[in-house]
Amino acid sequence: MGLLSEGSPLSWEETEALANHVREHGINQFINLYHRLKDRQGDILKWGDEVEYIIVKFDDEQKVARVALRAQDLLEQLNEKELADPKGVKSLWRPEYGAYMIEGTPGKPFGGLMAHFNLVEANMRYRREEVTELLAKDECVMSITNFPRLGARNFTWPLAQPRPEDPLSSARSLYFPDEAIFPGHPRFKTLTRNIRKRRGEKVSIKLKVFKDVKTKLPVEGAPPGEPDVVLLDAMGFGMGCCCLQLTFQACNITEARRLYDQLAPLCPIMLALTAASPIYRGYLTESDCRWNVISSSVDCRTEEERGLVPLDKQKFRIAKSRYDSIDSYLSPEGAKYNDVPLTYDEAVYQRLVDGGIDHLLAQHVAHLFIRDTVSLFSEKVHQNDNEDTDHFENIQSTNWQTMRFKPPPPNSSIGWRVEFRPCEAQISDFENAAIVCFVVLLTRVILSYQLNFLTPISKVDENMQTAQKRDACRKEKFWFRKSSKTTEQRAAKAKAQAQAQAHAQTNGKATLNGGGGGVASENGNGLAVNGNGNGNGIDHVDKEEQPLTNGSAKMNGHGHGDTNGITTNGSATNGSGNGTDSDHTDTDDEENELFQLLSINEIFNGKTNVFPGLVPLIRSYLQSMEVDTDTHCTIEQYLRFIEKRAAGELITTATWMREQVLNHPDYKQDSVVSERINYDLLKRIQGIQEGKHVEPALLGQGYHSKTKTKDFIPPALQKQLAKNGGCCEEK
Ligand code: ADP
Ligand code: MG
Ligand code: MG
Ligand code: MG
Ligand code: MG
Repeated sequence: MGLLSEGSPLSWEETEALANHVREHGINQFINLYHRLKDRQGDILKWGDEVEYIIVKFDDEQKVARVALRAQDLLEQLNEKELADPKGVKSLWRPEYGAYMIEGTPGKPFGGLMAHFNLVEANMRYRREEVTELLAKDECVMSITNFPRLGARNFTWPLAQPRPEDPLSSARSLYFPDEAIFPGHPRFKTLTRNIRKRRGEKVSIKLKVFKDVKTKLPVEGAPPGEPDVVLLDAMGFGMGCCCLQLTFQACNITEARRLYDQLAPLCPIMLALTAASPIYRGYLTESDCRWNVISSSVDCRTEEERGLVPLDKQKFRIAKSRYDSIDSYLSPEGAKYNDVPLTYDEAVYQRLVDGGIDHLLAQHVAHLFIRDTVSLFSEKVHQNDNEDTDHFENIQSTNWQTMRFKPPPPNSSIGWRVEFRPCEAQISDFENAAIVCFVVLLTRVILSYQLNFLTPISKVDENMQTAQKRDACRKEKFWFRKSSKTTEQRAAKAKAQAQAQAHAQTNGKATLNGGGGGVASENGNGLAVNGNGNGNGIDHVDKEEQPLTNGSAKMNGHGHGDTNGITTNGSATNGSGNGTDSDHTDTDDEENELFQLLSINEIFNGKTNVFPGLVPLIRSYLQSMEVDTDTHCTIEQYLRFIEKRAAGELITTATWMREQVLNHPDYKQDSVVSERINYDLLKRIQGIQEGKHVEPALLGQGYHSKTKTKDFIPPALQKQLAKNGGCCEEK
């Protein structure tokens, strides 16, 4: 991966000719890897974030901000440290699409200890400082989702001009020059060219302009007949955006499938909460999020596949871009909510089934494999399907969906993982850390309380569109699953039982491993949760892991090591193996009422008799955990922030940016974000991320980052953490 694996990309014609070769071997590789790894058990919770950043260059005399095309140079320096000490570095840096972008992750994943929540923000801050040290005084690394004037005149430094007529240009964009595509790895330009060629024309991204009283129509560059559309014509407009992603390791494949499903309906919800990108190509738009932009930016479907002309050369009509929300659930409980017809090649599906893959997973993989490869390197064409997985990964990694189901890589100690991909990048490390810790906690609550968020895919799709509307976080309503009668009882009993069990069985270890055993089994036994719960849970508590506060007096030794056998009698979560209804608590009569339209506030903070709220559920879970004071304090800050943003007391980044523009003295009520407005907005963002400027509407009055200094983590805890392999030491 990354800068090290240089290769020679094939031409589009060569790549296209090998589409079936990649598909065939990719499927073989998946079948083989599945059988090697399907029984893998006992992996502990590990998780880590990815934050993408934009390098901005300020011209303080002219009051202009531009993206600085410095990523390659920065990465060479950042990766030197990793090369010298691959295991010891506190951060890892990877290229991203833009020549002005970099992606940073922690050096190692975080692990299953509550105390790890203290490290996330500090690590993010470390990453920012590490890059900042390499920058000139007038440059700044920013975790903004989109550069507001991306694609507007002279938005890069050094200046570069688009060459739409140049046959050698990858993007041939009117606005986005090839120089703004990361030059250090051929993948990015190759993808750009091949997606355009496969589609048969440039990509077309349409955003409604935010109509203000003096907005000039047609907007510059608007398509004929659509005067209020801001048109973007290159992959860079989407893939050149930044996001915040999270990956979790599950204890086994069953837990991974379950987490994938349970998190999928939360994707639009988290997208709305993290909305941070209302400005494109220098215009305020009606959208608050990057999602549809990035989706359209890599939409390689032909006219036939998009349904504009009758099918002739292509096999299928395809409903969505290869970058979009997921189309099917993977767990038996999810099966009945797969209400959107899945497109796939019967023969591919049948090969998977004949290869021993169950229906739900087979249709998932077959559906991913309706896509052709859009990037192929000559040295990767011929592979050993028993060992290699590159052809599978080729298609898997260019299906950019809200969730990704990640099989263990070959020859590694890594287990089955799921990736949560909808969130927009936030301005401050505090916000990004809050989002990350919140989602990690949510996964623990889902597993411990056996929560069920499953919502028909069609409604999740609808929510994805709702989430992107202007100020959706405060104004819109989302389909959400009403808690079944037993959810709250289940949670209460789970808590009591977990406390009792933890006390009896696990010496009060405050680990975060969830309940693999409690998952409805895939093997058709219909095992109740009780029965196989306990044994599994103990297995996947890492033997080497140091418990945070082993039976300390402070919290009475309540821990939560094993959260498996928490349902009262197993009837709540019968697995059924054959993919039919597995949730006996909800009868079909209730099914219609099960899904209600709730506001973000109601989803996060609760609505009486409908849903207890995500934040209260997490608080309830935490009460059953042994949490030291510092960790508790860290988590509380984050929960309070999430709670307030969801309640509308704090505004989203997108809403805040709009206000900054609308209230700027230079703003002419014409939707245009001028060079000067852009400059001032980014300067203010710089002040916020450096903690020099307090913005109460975004972060509240009282917020001060505490993670600046080592002292934030108490010395005793530092020792524990240093011993633990799964986390990074503080600076
Ligand atoms: P990708 O770009 O393919 O999504 P990255 O390698 O950039 O993946 O980032 C994946 C994230 O997963 C990082 O935060 C990393 O720390 C984390 N991670 C690494 N190993 C594991 C693991 N075994 N389980 C869970 N997360 C992991
Ligand atoms: Mg990555
Ligand atoms: Mg990426
Ligand atoms: Mg990335
Ligand atoms: Mg990722």
